Amino acid sequence: MKDSGKFKRYLLNWIAVVAVMISAIVPATPAVSAATSKDNVTNTQHKEGTSERNKVVIIIDDFGNGMKGTDEMFSLPVKLTVAVMPFLPTSVKDATRAHERGDDVLVHLPMEPRQGNPKWLGPGAILAKMSDEEVRQKVEAALDNVPYAIGINNHMGSKITGDERIMAVILSVCKERGLFFVDSKTNYHSVAGKIAYRMGLPRVENHIFLDDTHTASHVVKQMGLVNNLAKDQRFCVTIGHVGVFGKETAAGIRSGVEQIKDSVEFIGISDLVKNEMKWSSQPKLP
Ligand SMILES: [Zn+2]
Repeated sequence: MKDSGKFKRYLLNWIAVVAVMISAIVPATPAVSAATSKDNVTNTQHKEGTSERNKVVIIIDDFGNGMKGTDEMFSLPVKLTVAVMPFLPTSVKDATRAHERGDDVLVHLPMEPRQGNPKWLGPGAILAKMSDEEVRQKVEAALDNVPYAIGINNHMGSKITGDERIMAVILSVCKERGLFFVDSKTNYHSVAGKIAYRMGLPRVENHIFLDDTHTASHVVKQMGLVNNLAKDQRFCVTIGHVGVFGKETAAGIRSGVEQIKDSVEFIGISDLVKNEMKWSSQPKLP
């Protein structure tokens, strides 16, 4: 009795194993693919599937100092790329919060501008007078200060992004660490893209500033341009800010997202670099 029960269990287990093996080889219902069921769960209104839509990357600059609009940005219903200034009171907190939300994190590295108040730069800034070694130390310290960073973009920096010597040092550190540089395009004569290309790094740059005029309605208008540009070039990178007008910017992005969400997919900068630019990081081990 005991033995025959044991045999039955053995037989049933064996049948179960064979059934699993057969189901792995022959899909029971091939029409219901993983992609279809995923789309059904995440976004029923997109018949074509998420991969067909143009891509939009929203970078939000100037996190790290408990700036206005921080909570509003973190409650937006899309993936963001959160650029955090180093060595400030909420640098680590904001980067951690972004990471936990599933956002990408960049170090928002302060760099000397051609004009503008040097006080706006904040701590750890890269200045044109610095030696290569000083620049390297500053970049490494900033990267060590902001957790989860997958790259760097520039805060101000119209002077530095035009400086081949300094950009080569910054991009070398990126390459060594398997990171990349996103040019905020505060200088139309920036050499960042040229040097990135030379070093085998992706050329990533901002296409549109969202909040150069500080009203929610202007931001909504800019989001319309983002949509058009994404149609023309398959993807669009855009930048907004937390700060004095951070709440207005967040409100504008929220409305803009609602208006264009059926024609674009909001992705992080790492998704853009990996999937659209086919670049993968290969850090040099020390
Ligand atoms: Zn900035």
